[in-house]
Amino acid sequence: MLSSYIGRFAPSPTGPLHLGSLVAAMASYLDAKVHGGQWLVRIEDLDRDRNVPGADEHILASLRRCGMAWDGEVTWQTRREPLYEAALAQLGQHVYPCGCSRKEIADSQTRLGLSNNAALVYPGTCRAGLAPGKAPRALRLRTPQQPGRVIGFEDRWHGPVEQDITAEVGDFVIRRADGFWAYQLAVVVDDAAQGVTDIVRGADLLDSTPRQLYLQELLGVPHPRYLHVPVVVNADGEKLSKQTGAAAFDNGASPERLLADSLQPAARFLGLHVEAATIPAFWDAAVPAWERLLRDRRAW
Ligand code: GLU
Repeated sequence: MLSSYIGRFAPSPTGPLHLGSLVAAMASYLDAKVHGGQWLVRIEDLDRDRNVPGADEHILASLRRCGMAWDGEVTWQTRREPLYEAALAQLGQHVYPCGCSRKEIADSQTRLGLSNNAALVYPGTCRAGLAPGKAPRALRLRTPQQPGRVIGFEDRWHGPVEQDITAEVGDFVIRRADGFWAYQLAVVVDDAAQGVTDIVRGADLLDSTPRQLYLQELLGVPHPRYLHVPVVVNADGEKLSKQTGAAAFDNGASPERLLADSLQPAARFLGLHVEAATIPAFWDAAVPAWERLLRDRRAW
């Protein structure tokens, strides 16, 4: 039977692959294989200030070295901007220009007695129009105004997740002050345009998901299923990234070293016990191991 499952790995090209991003790549790849589905790769390169030249090709070479073949053509978000423009037009009156700086939002939060460490909740300053003398900077999406409306979903790994995006996030940015399209809009548009049915990614994005569900609702596109895997942290409990000292994937390493230093540690982190002496044997064993793990966790 043909499967309708379409999954994806969507790295930002801010540096080479490392254990943290390999875990997300591996989990999404295994989940697509277990479901007999397709696995797409999309380079999320909209934040031009954070892109590292050549990181996209380096990541793709690492996936090839790991034996992770993607389906279809790789896509780059910077080549898809007309799609985000069209979505913006469709959102119409749900979107408004905002002239506030980060500092002004932080200051208003302090005035409301919220701690500086709390995530910045936009207080809605420009919701009814730009304050006199303010120039438009970002574009924001109005969050639902029904008091206490929570947006919930069933995460395949974490179970039920709920968020009141109006109270906990506020009207959020869909085009940034620097003119770049925001991740929240682009990810929803692309997942829908590419027919993605299943999103498997790191749990650092768990609290972005209700915003994405809301955008899907407004754009009239289907909600995918979600599975958020735990994120790899360093000794200080920070999410592993180039900035927090992750070791870069070595595209020149031998297959034995790749197995021992990258594939096996990523599999162990996911709770998979995979005995294999070669890369093809690793995947032959990892796919059924992921299937068992899903069944044990009732995360099918
Ligand atoms: N581009 C995001 C990242 O590298 C992932 C986005 C997603 O999977 O939705 O963290």
